[in-house]
Amino acid sequence: MQLVCLDLEGVLVPEIWIEFAERTGIPELRRTTRDEPNYDTLMKYRLALLKQHQLGLPDIQKVIADMGPMAGAKDFLDALRRDFQVIILSDTFYEFAMPLMAQLGMPTLFCHKMEADVDGWVVNYHLRMPNQKMESVKRFKEINFKVIAAGDSYNDTAMLAEAHAGILFHPPQNVIDEFPQFPVTMNYAELRAEIDKACARI
Ligand SMILES: [Mg+2]
Repeated sequence: MQLVCLDLEGVLVPEIWIEFAERTGIPELRRTTRDEPNYDTLMKYRLALLKQHQLGLPDIQKVIADMGPMAGAKDFLDALRRDFQVIILSDTFYEFAMPLMAQLGMPTLFCHKMEADVDGWVVNYHLRMPNQKMESVKRFKEINFKVIAAGDSYNDTAMLAEAHAGILFHPPQNVIDEFPQFPVTMNYAELRAEIDKACARI
């Protein structure tokens, strides 16, 4: 039985913080772990910015709903789900991703949680566990799934390595250079072809 694990941002939907920064005109929200390697510091900084700009969870969700999934993502995913069990593994938060999941036909998503107070202000965040993408793949293997995983960036490479087959989707050049063991796909047709190829092999 084959299971396909997909990263979310950069594969099916835009990079949520980057796109959110564009749409709200808050350039400071573009800051990523590349600029601030301490994730907790980065998240506290982001949450403080949201509050400072008077953006509560309903406002945030409205902006995210308007982003929509990437062109062709829904069709790709619908076709994939007809032939495979598909689980999306992401380091985003349910409260952020749900407006986009609704537009993708509510696929299964494993990610993290935000905490909002009664007034809708995001006050904290909760990571379910460290390295959850890779750990999830490990567990799926333990219950006898063959796992094919696809993602676009550095934070997916542990998951790709853990899977029986790992595939890069539209990755930046430094990831292509650093991880030559993973096939590179640049669009959904190529990704689907590579998934089918892996399925035949593993
Ligand atoms: Mg990604």
